[in-house]
Amino acid sequence: MIYILLLLIILIWISCSIGFFKKLLMVFTKTEKDPLFTKLFSGDLDEHRNALNEIIELRDVGRLKSLSKHLKPISEASALILDSRIGHSDYFYDGRRYPHFAILKLDFVKSTEQCLCNLYTMASLYTPLKEERLGHIKVVEKTKLENGWPDYELCICCYCQQNYKAYYREHHGPWYKWEKI
Ligand SMILES: [Zn+2]
Repeated sequence: MIYILLLLIILIWISCSIGFFKKLLMVFTKTEKDPLFTKLFSGDLDEHRNALNEIIELRDVGRLKSLSKHLKPISEASALILDSRIGHSDYFYDGRRYPHFAILKLDFVKSTEQCLCNLYTMASLYTPLKEERLGHIKVVEKTKLENGWPDYELCICCYCQQNYKAYYREHHGPWYKWEKI
């Protein structure tokens, strides 16, 4: 009889604990309204990758700052879900296949107030054409080499007016090497 009573007490204690953690999780998800949190912690590979890709594209510094407050759990979730499933080609060119850059971007936003254009020099995924189309930069001049091959594009950041030379490069595909001038 005493064992049954003990078992009952243990069962009640476990169910209370689960309820407590569920409430804690609800408080956390209510406080953090950004829909990216749900995707990031969904445990689903595609959802998680899409969320990281959205972070890579994101220009809203307020949202990035708020996400960066949870950099540690986000990077831990990323390591857990992605590390065993990232191939070599995932590190090249396309933001969609460049998951770790999202974590680097959140770390950048957390540690500095500098303009996001500083990230251009840190990754091979930014092209002058796309950045201009999105209204982030203005391409002022396009230069060519003597053989007619593209050399660099002179760009100005629309937010901080920093000048860049974006050199055309090829390695498994076209990319740009950005340099501050
Ligand atoms: Zn800038």
